[in-house]
Amino acid sequence: MQTTVPKGAPVPQTFGEALRAGPTTRVDEIDTRGTPGFDGDKAAAAELMPELADVVSELQERLYAESKGGGQRSVLLVIQGMDTSGKGGIMRHVVGAMDPQGVALTSFKVPSDEERRHPFLWRIRRALPRPGEIGVFDRSHYEDVLVVRVHDLVPRSQWSRRYGQIATFERGLVESGTTVVKVMLHISKDEQRARLAERLARPDKHWKYNPGDIDEREHWDEYMEAYQSVLERTSTESAPWYVVPADRKWYARLAVMQLLKEHLEAMDPRWPAADFDVEVEQERLEHT
Ligand code: AMP
Ligand code: MG
Repeated sequence: MQTTVPKGAPVPQTFGEALRAGPTTRVDEIDTRGTPGFDGDKAAAAELMPELADVVSELQERLYAESKGGGQRSVLLVIQGMDTSGKGGIMRHVVGAMDPQGVALTSFKVPSDEERRHPFLWRIRRALPRPGEIGVFDRSHYEDVLVVRVHDLVPRSQWSRRYGQIATFERGLVESGTTVVKVMLHISKDEQRARLAERLARPDKHWKYNPGDIDEREHWDEYMEAYQSVLERTSTESAPWYVVPADRKWYARLAVMQLLKEHLEAMDPRWPAADFDVEVEQERLEHT
């Protein structure tokens, strides 16, 4: 890609346009080392990130302020990906760049006994962002059509209904003012091997290693089929999926930050008007 846009050339794509999953998206055809929407390198991304983080932070503060003035809007960022795909790095480097007061982060693990007694969306509804918040899901209701499908944790007749239930659920969220941003961090099987090898080689990374990850690796192709179905059946007009190539961690972090920025900019949250008379207050302050 070029860095300057020649006359008459189309405007460069946003990350949203470059990454959005459409009806023809095939997970097995995406270059997981690619950097769609970005023509710079790792150093260029490193330079960009702090400025971007500032922009996102201010937009997040505005969204939060808007809710204090009665606004009902919120954002839900859903992060899915295979083991070692970099979900933790997104939490630290992208989500961690925002004011924790306005962020509601939930990591979804194997359901507890209590959670298992309820429909699969029960624990999800309880974790939704309140007005003004940016909710972040580290794994999500999609596990209920990913790990659950691959391992037949419930009968097929049950998980196959969930795609429609999820699409309906998310449409409701969007209609009530939540902007839903769904990200698949897409790594290659080879990259996962390298990352697992690194976890094994470094004592400071052993805590992240789970022997079960090797068993899951054996099901790689079934997981990719399950992700393909997720994209086909739940990448909707109101809540599309973004497939982020994630073999390069620096790109994945930049891309998720950009997706947040683009969605927040489109929402254009406004500082609420003061519910007091500013001049009167300035006057009063003068006399103290
Ligand atoms: P981690 O993200 O490495 O802490 O692992 C969390 C584990 O919880 C993963 O192995 C997920 O597959 C699993 N998990 C999350 N949600 C569900 C679910 N609804 N049903 C079964 N397993 C789940
Ligand atoms: Mg894990």
